[in-house]
Amino acid sequence: MARIALMLFFALTSLKGIAGDGIFDLELIVIDPGHGGRDPGCVNRWGGVEKEINLAVALYLKGAIEREGIYRAVMTRQSDQTLSLGERARIANRYPPDKTLFISLHCNSSPNGEGRGIETYVFDLEATDRLAQQVAERENALEVIDPLRFILNDLRHRSAALYSEMAARLIQRALVSRLKAGDRRIRRAPFKILADVKMPAVLVEMGFLSDKVEQRKLRSKRYQRAIAEAIYEGIKRFDRELSAAHKGVARSSR
Ligand SMILES: [Zn+2]
Repeated sequence: MARIALMLFFALTSLKGIAGDGIFDLELIVIDPGHGGRDPGCVNRWGGVEKEINLAVALYLKGAIEREGIYRAVMTRQSDQTLSLGERARIANRYPPDKTLFISLHCNSSPNGEGRGIETYVFDLEATDRLAQQVAERENALEVIDPLRFILNDLRHRSAALYSEMAARLIQRALVSRLKAGDRRIRRAPFKILADVKMPAVLVEMGFLSDKVEQRKLRSKRYQRAIAEAIYEGIKRFDRELSAAHKGVARSSR
């Protein structure tokens, strides 16, 4: 616990550096439904379309957040709209990085149809493995990446990284336990959208559209609502754990 408090202390002071004022205090969630408009994302042979599922879950998540009124919620797109990754990042970056959590929602797919389960990503220039690299390449597909900017963003990201990881861990855990879904754990990959936003950020691959059983669930309203509720539960745990850590840091630095 002392080690965690110490690590958080460094993260808090470095985030203070980029954010300008104060420690991280969650007030707003920017929800990013992946793809949209001309970009459908994954489309499977049973009629499942990724952009529609991402938007449906995002709307449920926004609803869940607003119902309780603890945090505010903003969406990068509210309809079937074409939006570049740069535009999504610009929307998110209007909000203070020390008060905002960014969540991008996506559906997975594997070429051989064997993948199943949920994975949550945080940004890293180096992917966890070849599979993670392929997921990032697919999600980056329509965009050109400037390697130098990527590296600069990576440096900036180190200060938000601890928060991103904490959020990813708690959201992934809530999803897996609530949905009884396969746990593909937290993974890392160079996602452009995660690189371009200034705040702690995660990308959730909510399940595989290439799996016959999983895609049926992903397309049902009940399961979409359950995903949203699980993510919201993860967000609240993230906030609680953060508050507890802040108190610990305050005590130990007294
Ligand atoms: Zn996607």
